[in-house]
Amino acid sequence: MTLVDTRTPNPKYFISGATGDWEIVIGMEVHAQVTSESKLFSGSSTEFGNPPNANVSFVDAAMPGMLPVINEECVRQAVRTGLGLKARINKRSVFDRKNYFYPDLPQGYQISQFKDPIVGEGKVLLDLGEDGEVEIGIERLHLEQDAGKSIHDQHPSMSFVDLNRSGVALMEIVSKPDMRSSEEARAYLSKLRTILRYLGTCDGNMEQGSMRADINVSVRRPGGEFGTRCEIKNVNSVRFAGQAIEYEARRQIDILEDGGAIDQETRLYDPKTGETRSMRSKEEAHDYRYFPDPDLLPLEFDDAFIAALAENLPELPDEKQARFIESYGISPYDASVLVTDRDSAAFFEAVANGRDGKLAANWVINELFGRLNKEGLDVNSSPVSADQLGGVIDLITKGEISGKIAKDLFEIVWSEGGDPAELVESRGMKQVSDTGAIEKIVDEIIAGNPGQVEAVKTKPGLLGWFVGQVMKQTGGKANPQAVNEILKAKLGLN
Ligand code: ADP
Ligand code: MG
Repeated sequence: MTLVDTRTPNPKYFISGATGDWEIVIGMEVHAQVTSESKLFSGSSTEFGNPPNANVSFVDAAMPGMLPVINEECVRQAVRTGLGLKARINKRSVFDRKNYFYPDLPQGYQISQFKDPIVGEGKVLLDLGEDGEVEIGIERLHLEQDAGKSIHDQHPSMSFVDLNRSGVALMEIVSKPDMRSSEEARAYLSKLRTILRYLGTCDGNMEQGSMRADINVSVRRPGGEFGTRCEIKNVNSVRFAGQAIEYEARRQIDILEDGGAIDQETRLYDPKTGETRSMRSKEEAHDYRYFPDPDLLPLEFDDAFIAALAENLPELPDEKQARFIESYGISPYDASVLVTDRDSAAFFEAVANGRDGKLAANWVINELFGRLNKEGLDVNSSPVSADQLGGVIDLITKGEISGKIAKDLFEIVWSEGGDPAELVESRGMKQVSDTGAIEKIVDEIIAGNPGQVEAVKTKPGLLGWFVGQVMKQTGGKANPQAVNEILKAKLGLN
């Protein structure tokens, strides 16, 4: 891959060393397990959690004479993913053998794609809040088989091999070296996972290993030549990715500032120590003796095949975000939060439908998501339904409850359930907008506090104290706008 620098150095991300500033450069290879019922070249199940070696056919175990047969569904999923990454779909691609020995690789080679991958260049947009939008280039996406798993902790003197994963379809999604900080790397992983989940081409469950990242990290002087990189293998959480990059960049800077050089190598991140350690020196492509797999024909598509898949893509996060900004009048950042997953986006739309979009976004993000996060719940197990939350918002909009009472009401609906409008009736939570009633209370407070009445004439800030008194007497139920107007009139502050 020829390295091109597409970014302007951002001083915010520089790391200062003893000899000056440094910039981190990051490129990722993400392995994403294709969502499909069977494996890439056999009919075996891909189901997670089955007993060892339950999902193994003769093909997966590489019995002599077995022939791979391509699973069309996996091909469709890879193309759909390419379309979701706004990438070029290669109408002709080739499967190659990547030769290496491993006990859990019974074929002695992995079937992958080397020179002619199924998907070419694409891009992923990151929304970094106040730092704006950043485009991360995708170099390629290719299809390949997963290997099995060696198990070393079940017996004192033997290792076991589980081939359930052997032959499962993976998409390797290779980014350009376009990321410049651990924040961007985390945002990239999250965004990629969101896109895959929207498409339904990978479940994105990093803890279960269905999405894992090899993270290439190098450092250089800001805007300078690319440095030598190290690759941190198999990182399985967004948080660990950030920690691994921070550690690795610091390690490389220390070596360089001591006058040393970086060895290009493969490293592992240990979340327990927060450190990366060397695993092996970097292998080169020629070490693998790639050659086209003679058992498989090249994959060839016509335009109609690609067009049919393109037509049936769901609305993707970027498009959904743009639509949310446009039709609900909410900020790009709020929209980006709401589209993080499809269910949250759908929940928001159910609440916002026919209501004020900004108010709906505010309640969904700050009150509901905030509360769900605190309880470790996801939106599908929310005790407050979209209808109920919408009901609370309607009461605010109609002026029947204040924002503050609405929060109390939200709490009641959260813990006890019920219809918001009925709760407001039955618990007497209705806002007092009756000016006569408010005036009476205001008159009493003015009569009882001559000192404050005198003081507020020179210190208008004291008005807040009067508002507080009225609210106290009405249990927070007085309409704040009415209270303000009446107070100002009676105190002669207008
Ligand atoms: P290989 O397949 O040998 O690992 P590639 O050229 O395909 O090598 O690159 C692998 C990944 O490393 C890509 O994601 C790429 O963006 C990234 N990368 C390449 N050079 C650098 C560099 N100097 N610093 C950080 N990442 C890099
Ligand atoms: Mg690599």
